[in-house]
Amino acid sequence: MSSPSESAPGQPASPTVGFVSLGCPKALTDSELILTRLSAEGYRTARSFQGADLVIVNTCGFIDEAVKESLDTIGEALASNGRVIVTGCLGAKSGSDGANLVRSVHPKVLAVTGPHATDEVMQAVHAHLPKPHDPFVDLLPPAGIKLTPRHYAYLKISEGCNHRCTFCIIPSMRGDLVSRPVGDVLNEARALFDSGVKELLVVSQDTSAYCVYLQYRTGFWDGKPVKTRLTDLCERLAELARAHEAWVRLHYVYPYPHVDELLPLMADGRILPYLDVPFQHAHPDVLRRMRRPASGERNLERLQRWREACPQLVVRSTFIAGFPGETEEEFEALLEFVREAGIDRAGCFAYSPVDGAAANALPGQLPAAEREARRARFMAVAEEVSARRLLMRVGATMQVLVDHAPALGRRGGRGRSYADAPEIDGVVHLLPPARASRTLKVGEFTRARIVATQGHDLVAEPA
Ligand code: SF4
Repeated sequence: MSSPSESAPGQPASPTVGFVSLGCPKALTDSELILTRLSAEGYRTARSFQGADLVIVNTCGFIDEAVKESLDTIGEALASNGRVIVTGCLGAKSGSDGANLVRSVHPKVLAVTGPHATDEVMQAVHAHLPKPHDPFVDLLPPAGIKLTPRHYAYLKISEGCNHRCTFCIIPSMRGDLVSRPVGDVLNEARALFDSGVKELLVVSQDTSAYCVYLQYRTGFWDGKPVKTRLTDLCERLAELARAHEAWVRLHYVYPYPHVDELLPLMADGRILPYLDVPFQHAHPDVLRRMRRPASGERNLERLQRWREACPQLVVRSTFIAGFPGETEEEFEALLEFVREAGIDRAGCFAYSPVDGAAANALPGQLPAAEREARRARFMAVAEEVSARRLLMRVGATMQVLVDHAPALGRRGGRGRSYADAPEIDGVVHLLPPARASRTLKVGEFTRARIVATQGHDLVAEPA
C-alpha cells in the first residue's frame, strides 16, 4: 500500500483510495501520475484495503510470475474490499480465448485499463467514487506524489516501443513509442529537483530512441527552442542538475551511433558516467533471432570507444541465457563478450517463454535445466568480472549519495556512488565517521574513501 495522507483538520472526510503498485520503474511513474491526480482532486490514500472506499491495483504482466502476483493481489483486494480498479500492463493482456485476462479471472473488478492510462483510471474513479467537493489542490507538492524516497526519482521520457524483440510482448501492451514533449519533460525535471531530488533516473523502453521518429521536432522550454532529441535533453538536464547539485543517470540506452554524443557529457561529469544498456546477447545470430535493436552494431568496439572517451564509464546490462536455438558456441561468445567488454554490473535471466511472444515458435527450444545451467555459468563469469572491476575502486575517494543513515550516521550508513543505480546495483557501506562531530544525512552527498569490497558492494570511510 502507498503511504497514507490525512484529512485537513476541520474538513469533511475525503474519499479514500487504496493503491498497490507492482512492476517496473515505468509502471511506478504511472502510479505516481495517478496518485498525483488523486491527491490534486482531494482523494486520500488509505492505510489498508479494508479502510479504503476503493482500491486501485497497478499491475505487471511481463513474465508469468509477475502475472500471478498481480492476479493474486487483485484477488486479495477484492476479498478485503470488493471495489477494485485494475490498471497497468496486465490490464491490456488477453487470455488464450482472446478475452481480457483480468476480467476472465476476476469478473467482479469495477474497471480495467492498460498501462499509461491516467485519464481512464481517473474516469473510472470518478464513476465509482465521486470527486470530493473541496479538493486540496493547494496542498499538492509541486513535484507531485512520488513512490521513491524523497532524494531520487524516475523521469519517464517516452512510452511504448517501436521494436519487436521476439521474446517481448511490451509493444503489444504499451503500443509504439511516443515521446513526451521536451518542454514537459524538462518542467517535470525542474519540479523534481526543486522538491529536493538529488538523483534523476531517466527511463523509458528505449531511451536512445527519444523522438528519433519525429525527426527531432523543435519544442520550447522557458521560451527557448529545444530539439526533442536525447543529446539536447541531456544537456538541459545536466544544466538543471548542476544548478541543484544533483545527478542524472540514464537507463535503457541502446547502443545506437548517436549515443556516442553523450560520452563527452559523461566525461565532463555533467551527467553520470553510467550507462544501462540492455544488450541481452552478444552473438550476432542470436541477436538476429531476438530481433534486437542495434543488433548490427559492433558493440564491443563501440564500448571500447566509449571507454576511451570516458575512462570512468560504468556499464550495466541484462542478458538472456538459453534463448531458443542458442548453441554452445553462441553461448561461449556471450561469455567472452562479458569478459572482454568488462561489464561492470550484469543481470541474467534464463530464457522463459512469455505468453504471446514470437520466440515461442522458434525452433531449438532448450530444456529448462539447460537454460538454468547456462544462466548459472553466465553469472559465475559476470561476478568474476564485476568483482575485478570493483576492486579497481579500492583506495579511491568517491562522491556517495546517502540512502540510509540512522542516528545521523554516527554508527555508519549506506549510500551509492555514481556506479550504483538504486535497487539494481550494489551499495556503498559507510563506516562510522572518524570525527564525532561528522554526521551523515539521507539525501545528502558525502565524500568517502573506498577501503574494501564486500560481494557486489563497497566499504568506505566518510572523508
Ligand atoms: S526494445 Fe525489445 S525488449 Fe525492449 S520493450 Fe522494445 S520490444 Fe521489448
